Amino acid sequence: GVLVVGSINADLTVTAPHIPAPGETVLGRELRVGPGGKGANQAVAAARAGARVSLVGAVGQDSFQANALRLLQAAGVNLSGVQVRPEATGVALITVSAGGENAITVASGANAALTPDDLPADLSLWTHLLLQQELPPDITLAAAQRAHAAGLHVTLNAAPSRERTPALLACTTHLIVNEHELAALAGEDKDVAEVARALLTAGPHAVTVTLGAQGSLTVTADGETHRLAAFPVTALDTTGAGDTFCGVLVARLAQGEALRSALHWAGVAAALTCTRPGAQAAMPDWAEVQQAGAS
Ligand code: ADP
Repeated sequence: GVLVVGSINADLTVTAPHIPAPGETVLGRELRVGPGGKGANQAVAAARAGARVSLVGAVGQDSFQANALRLLQAAGVNLSGVQVRPEATGVALITVSAGGENAITVASGANAALTPDDLPADLSLWTHLLLQQELPPDITLAAAQRAHAAGLHVTLNAAPSRERTPALLACTTHLIVNEHELAALAGEDKDVAEVARALLTAGPHAVTVTLGAQGSLTVTADGETHRLAAFPVTALDTTGAGDTFCGVLVARLAQGEALRSALHWAGVAAALTCTRPGAQAAMPDWAEVQQAGAS
């Protein structure tokens, strides 16, 4: 099964004519409250793609908790590693402009209180670990190091961008980044495939760069290159696309699927997420992914 160690948030989203400048107040439309956080999003995506998924994380004992956990529970994610802490549930304050741009402020709350002591003692209960960069760096690094030592396949979605951590990359089996995160990790002077290949020397056996409507590019230490076009959809809201891609990719790998085929399904599922508003609520179940991507 898949262990996700990551953030759990409630997303509070307002659509407004434009994103407010410093000191400005903008009148927006109705508030939408939905479950989010990269860790929770990827756990839901992986569970809907058929994997057995456990989540380690933290929420507060407040009015946002139930909302943050609702779709994790519905997807059957094992939440015994989720603590209820005295801090507030993490909240992302999201303003979306009429033009579709967004500005996001995250109040980390309970997520920021997690430490390496909160990790399960025996990681060998899982085959795959899935990490992002919304938790304190020390718990993410400790999870990667212990999982690597225990022989797990470690996937790091290096989002949001942080300073490059060689020790973390050294324990990573599969690194997933978008173009901005790739540039932050490795520079942007050469072409994407070259930059991705250069990152293989930092530790990962595979590096995947997600390219939005351009699909994805994956290079491996065995010398393979996989360029996959995006699954064609009319994108309405791309929130959660990257998280869907990561969750589904690891879920399919954990179920024994080959890399190229797992990349295909991850792209189909991510594209379907773009056709509906929100993050977790927009993620397809496996029957829908199979039907859409069968051709
Ligand atoms: P992030 O949201 O993390 O920046 P991307 O924008 O690269 O990540 O999107 C992640 C994946 O979602 C892409 O690799 C692609 O498979 C899918 N995707 C994103 N945008 C579209 C789109 N407009 N049409 C189809 N698929 C998309």
